[in-house]
Amino acid sequence: MATNIQAIRGIHDILPEQTPRWFAVESVMREVLNGYGYQEIRLPILEKTELFKRSIGEVTDIVEKEMYTFEDRNGESLTLRPEGTAGCLRACLEHGLLHNQVHRLWYCGPMFRHERPQKGRYRQFYQLGVETYGMAGPDIDAEIILLTDRLWRRLGIRDKLELQLNTLGSIEERLIYREKLVDYFSAHLDKLDEDSQRRLNTNPLRILDSKNPAMQTIISAAPELIDHLGTESREHFQAIRTMLDNLGVQYTVNTRLVRGLDYYSKTVFEWVTDELGAQGTVCAGGRYDNLIAQLGGKPNFAVGFALGMERLLALLELLTDLPETPTVDVYLIRMGNDAELAGLKLAEAIRDAIPNLKLLMNCSGGSFKSQFKKADKSSAQYALVLGEDEMLRGEVGIKSLRTDADQQNIPLADVITYLKQHALP
Ligand code: ATP
Ligand code: MG
Repeated sequence: MATNIQAIRGIHDILPEQTPRWFAVESVMREVLNGYGYQEIRLPILEKTELFKRSIGEVTDIVEKEMYTFEDRNGESLTLRPEGTAGCLRACLEHGLLHNQVHRLWYCGPMFRHERPQKGRYRQFYQLGVETYGMAGPDIDAEIILLTDRLWRRLGIRDKLELQLNTLGSIEERLIYREKLVDYFSAHLDKLDEDSQRRLNTNPLRILDSKNPAMQTIISAAPELIDHLGTESREHFQAIRTMLDNLGVQYTVNTRLVRGLDYYSKTVFEWVTDELGAQGTVCAGGRYDNLIAQLGGKPNFAVGFALGMERLLALLELLTDLPETPTVDVYLIRMGNDAELAGLKLAEAIRDAIPNLKLLMNCSGGSFKSQFKKADKSSAQYALVLGEDEMLRGEVGIKSLRTDADQQNIPLADVITYLKQHALP
């Protein structure tokens, strides 16, 4: 016998019982994003490898070891997108959307990273991405933080998340700081793990990001970037803080927050929770003014974030009072050849008249008993019954499946009116 083929490790299915919750979260997201005037952009999943190398940076976890890269049949190197920022920018540059324009965009879809699969860390996972272009001031940084704050409040999880904020300054400031950091870590070379020794010459800031417990003492004594910032970067950061303070959004300044991607400048932030174990970052973002020029565009301003959908859903699952979404309103039972055809017609007529009613028609026959069983399992409020007796009388039986009320029969012509009055959720 042939063996079953299983999904790829770290790549999971979202089953029908889970999709209502995804849909509910996505609906809230759309509403919140609409409320701030953000527009949806739909982007390809496959891009040229070069795009990610140039944007994310050669010496990052993603590009060094996490990308799904392959040669297509023409020998061109392609990569399944590990994140959305690069592709979004590529699309906007390609279509001239960045020329003297301001944009607020979002997308939602799968990303791919070859990481070690574990709870909250998958090889295919979904992100909501938000990107804004063309705005230099700190108010847009604050706006996208407020937007995420509103999203948590709408979803009822604000108290589970903490906002961490930091600034990375400009490239020039970071270069000066980088030298200080290299000096510092070089003086403690024996205390660095293998990864960090390698990073010392390629990307020393990432050492600060190390999760290795043995490294934490040496990291916490390292010089801090915030002490090496110029006036403009300081003022930008302070302005965001003032806005958040005034709006009552609580945050912690975390000077060790550097983010895994190279393209950030000035603001970086993360929304973290301690309820999901090690995979506690639900949403992360910041300003990335350098990336547009890095990808060949005219220098311009950009701020964005990405939100891990699985981690958000996992957080929501911890809530006890989640609304159960019934999947069906009415279940149509048919018995006998004439009733099968009449029932099919009736079902179509009901769908014409009440498009938002969820009507499930029993297919492939079965006894009354087994059809009623399926009706009961379907979560429908009502069963419509069309058997030979009902056909002879030109009637339809209506049975409430969630109360003890007896079945009642009504004229076929009255079914739609009855359902409009009783069966709509
Ligand atoms: P982490 O530190 O957890 O690896 P990251 O810095 O690589 O995260 P980003 O690239 O900033 O993450 O992606 C933004 C968000 O996407 C993360 O905060 C997280 O919620 C989610 N995310 C990232 N990688 C994965 C993954 N492999 N599986 C599930 N969600 C992920
Ligand atoms: Mg990662």
